[in-house]
Amino acid sequence: MIPVELILLALSPVFIGFIAWEWYRSHQAANGVYRWQDSLANAVLALLHQGSDMLALLLLMPFFLWLHQFRLFDIDLTAATVALAFLLQDFLYYWFHRASHHIRWLWASHVAHHSSRQMNFSTALRQSLTYPLSGMWLFWTPMILLGFTPALVFAVVALNLAFQFFVHTQAVKRLGWLGWLEWLFNTPSHHRVHHACNAVYIDKNFAGVLVIWDRLFGTFVAERADEPCRYGITEDFNSDNPLTITFYEWRKMLSEALKLSSVRQLPAVLFGAPKKAGNDDN
Ligand SMILES: [Zn+2]
Ligand SMILES: [Zn+2]
Repeated sequence: MIPVELILLALSPVFIGFIAWEWYRSHQAANGVYRWQDSLANAVLALLHQGSDMLALLLLMPFFLWLHQFRLFDIDLTAATVALAFLLQDFLYYWFHRASHHIRWLWASHVAHHSSRQMNFSTALRQSLTYPLSGMWLFWTPMILLGFTPALVFAVVALNLAFQFFVHTQAVKRLGWLGWLEWLFNTPSHHRVHHACNAVYIDKNFAGVLVIWDRLFGTFVAERADEPCRYGITEDFNSDNPLTITFYEWRKMLSEALKLSSVRQLPAVLFGAPKKAGNDDN
């Protein structure tokens, strides 16, 4: 289970290299893509996320191994089955991510990734340590039941996350002569839309690697030249404190829950749609 986590750790020099390049580029252009306080918070959040993920994996692996005995098929490790695992996990990631924007219990973790006003490679590192509490891991259980081994499932989860690092940038506008890739893959342009809180962009483009899921299920919106992305969440959130970022929605949820007059109202507070100012249809 540990080698799975090491995929992201092993790639960290690559990530740091890209961040340094983008920082230098934006520093030269003085366009304010980076704020060091924001990037430092992102780096701390990445470490906290990695720590909680490793701990969760240690605790959950016995459960996944137990679940694997009820598998429908025995799936051998071949190039074809690895490709299938990648495709299936990406499909499940789309639904996990879409649910994370519409169910408050999941949004409470995911909001950390969205609460920055910046958009750069370091934003990819901005993750929440509470994902295991929200139950992200539940979304991968269908793969275990199908017969993919837990080790393979968590390897493709990590690879999917690694791919997503590269879509967090303003340095790449559109893909030019490689534009056809934009039909198939999540790109910086598609993911900028996802991080924007403009009314036309909010809660769109949930893709991990393949953007075909957004196109198929009606959540795709293309970036528009006449509508520059405004990054961040609809609320007035401005903090670079990793703990404030992590527990922002959890605290709001808890204080609302404590004010309830009946316990029957609790599911709506915990699992209803998150309140996002200016967005009534989420
Ligand atoms: Zn999101
Ligand atoms: Zn993102």
